[in-house]
Amino acid sequence: MPKGSGKLPGNVVPEINVDSISSEEEAEQAVVQLREAIQYHDYRYYTLNNPVISDVKYDKLMSQLQQLEKTYPKLQDPNSPTQRVGGAPLQEFESFEHPAPMQSILSIREESELKTFVETAEKVLAKDETDKYVAEPKYDGASIELVYENGELTVAATRGDGQRGDDITKNARTIKEIPLKLIHPEDSEDSKNKVAPKYPDNLVVRGEIYMKKDEFNAFNKERKQNGEELFANPRNAAAGSLRQLDPSITAQRPLHVFIYQALGLEDQFNTHYEVLQALQEWGFKVNLEETKTCADFEELRTYHQNMEDKRENLNYEIDGVVFKVNDLEKRKELGRRTRNPRWAVAYKFKAQRETTKLLDILVQVGRTGKLTPVAVLDQVNIAGVEVTRASLHNQSEIDSKDIRIGDQVLVERAGDVIPQVVKPIKDVRTGNERCFEMPRDCPVCGTEVVMSEDKKQTHCPNPNCPAQLVGSLTHFASRNAMNIEGLGDKVAEKLVEEGLVEGIADLYELRVEDLVELEKFAEKSAENLIGEIEGSKKASFSNFLYALGISQVGEHVAKLLAKEYANLEALRGASKEDLEGIEGIGPEIATQVKGFFEAKENLEMLKELENIGLKLTNEFAQIKNRPLDGLTFVFTGELEDWTRDEAKDLVEKAGGRATSAVSSKTDYVVAGDNPGSKMAEVENRGIPVMGNNEFRDFLDLNNLI
Ligand SMILES: [Zn+2]
Repeated sequence: MPKGSGKLPGNVVPEINVDSISSEEEAEQAVVQLREAIQYHDYRYYTLNNPVISDVKYDKLMSQLQQLEKTYPKLQDPNSPTQRVGGAPLQEFESFEHPAPMQSILSIREESELKTFVETAEKVLAKDETDKYVAEPKYDGASIELVYENGELTVAATRGDGQRGDDITKNARTIKEIPLKLIHPEDSEDSKNKVAPKYPDNLVVRGEIYMKKDEFNAFNKERKQNGEELFANPRNAAAGSLRQLDPSITAQRPLHVFIYQALGLEDQFNTHYEVLQALQEWGFKVNLEETKTCADFEELRTYHQNMEDKRENLNYEIDGVVFKVNDLEKRKELGRRTRNPRWAVAYKFKAQRETTKLLDILVQVGRTGKLTPVAVLDQVNIAGVEVTRASLHNQSEIDSKDIRIGDQVLVERAGDVIPQVVKPIKDVRTGNERCFEMPRDCPVCGTEVVMSEDKKQTHCPNPNCPAQLVGSLTHFASRNAMNIEGLGDKVAEKLVEEGLVEGIADLYELRVEDLVELEKFAEKSAENLIGEIEGSKKASFSNFLYALGISQVGEHVAKLLAKEYANLEALRGASKEDLEGIEGIGPEIATQVKGFFEAKENLEMLKELENIGLKLTNEFAQIKNRPLDGLTFVFTGELEDWTRDEAKDLVEKAGGRATSAVSSKTDYVVAGDNPGSKMAEVENRGIPVMGNNEFRDFLDLNNLI
């Protein structure tokens, strides 16, 4: 929209007073206006990257719509923008037959093959055309097909085997870049610049769902912190997210889409490029920025070269480029081969995969004590980078791929991720290859390791293992653990390096004199640190359990354990079955906890800690009357009187549960300022909401403050 024109079409920010609406008819009118407005702003924001209203105004439109849909349930609609949060989980996906097969495009890697493609095409193309071809990036994500009827999304499906895919409509609805309703160009205010006619009543488009590289890295990092399995690359993460049976999980994944094809528009358009422009005008996300028209072999070759140079700097993965004949009529003349059309070709980049010899498998011990097998490779150049190491993840992965030391293996490199061993080349085995078993003892400290039943996690349970001591110390000292301020990475490293600390318990033996001898340690900060360490003796039992850094025992699990067991003694006596009996604790966690308390080193460490006089208090045991037992709370936004952590603590100490996601189990939502996107789901489900003051009254009523 031109800035300062001062003219907004009526539907951009509809003037609606929800409270004055008294009939369903009025409500319906308002709902239609609100949906159209929100849809338009989604288009400005997600498709064009050019919003015209503030987030606050947008949120207001959304909450008005939610309020009306709640008051008048008949007006609810699966394609309403309020439905982006996902819906009820499915048991399984239904199969969907594609209106036309999703066939692949011929892949080529050589210039000579490109030449052949051009020669074939130019038998039917006019010599002097300047936009004979359209060149697009070839995205490395998960293919998707979207079906629209009368402008409304009715089906989204994966590629599957090309004939039939999975119906993932509910998941697709949560992806904000996928329009739920299409836009008629004439509806929008700058229609004079538009060329596209109205979308057809039946429209089928195809594209690629992907995760941005930076968002993928952050996503994987978060999974790592939560002890969840990592995705090998953004493609797997996108495909995996798309195939979640619970759409609310998909809704939380950072997914994006590029649409690059529409079926059956030959009668309305002359060229593919016009189709792409029209798709964008109808509300689809089309990567016109990187899409170019090309005149001849030379321009195609240059485009391929430029994109390959740019590849590392793009925030999404591509593995080549796609060239298509632009003229839709000429495509028909060119026709198809058995498996793919003659009018398109995928020109792949230099292989990101190479084969080399797997010389050995090393085992690294990380800061959390996790043992990771690492492939030692005969040096190989993969797309310009020398590779000598690759990740093997865990024993289960090595077993299921049947990777053996001495094998020729296929290695893949993708973006910033460590190279991966894809598979062994079994045909060239000599018989001298050896199977690999994770060591029984930690290669650093010799302690017997603990392996999960599925063989996906192996770790050294010794918190004093030098490989993990620094990590253990900083975790022990972290804010939600023992809360020892001033004991960060650098200080912990120094303490271990200088031999002052050989185990967690040694922290409590430190004296100011020891610290001031360390480089750059002023007397004042030494005193402070000793004071902090002393003060931490009074930590709560659950914080202490979390501080121990037991694999898979995060803050939440630590609290579950503290609720069930009054003290360390009681917890130590619990059997694996006892532990599994606690709601929220599965066999994996139970194995880790049991393993921790069985390791000799840990028992010694705990004894030392007891000897120095820890005065742990079990905050759950103190409250005999637990008024919030069985109630689940979700906190969102900023409260005036408490930080999020303080508020959660209050609830948990009284027997309640604080979760981050809104679900059917949520009993109350406590919403402060700027409550965020969760509120849509909250209103949908009709969950009671408390503000700061109501929450204070509620706590007061329950004698909790
Ligand atoms: Zn160890």
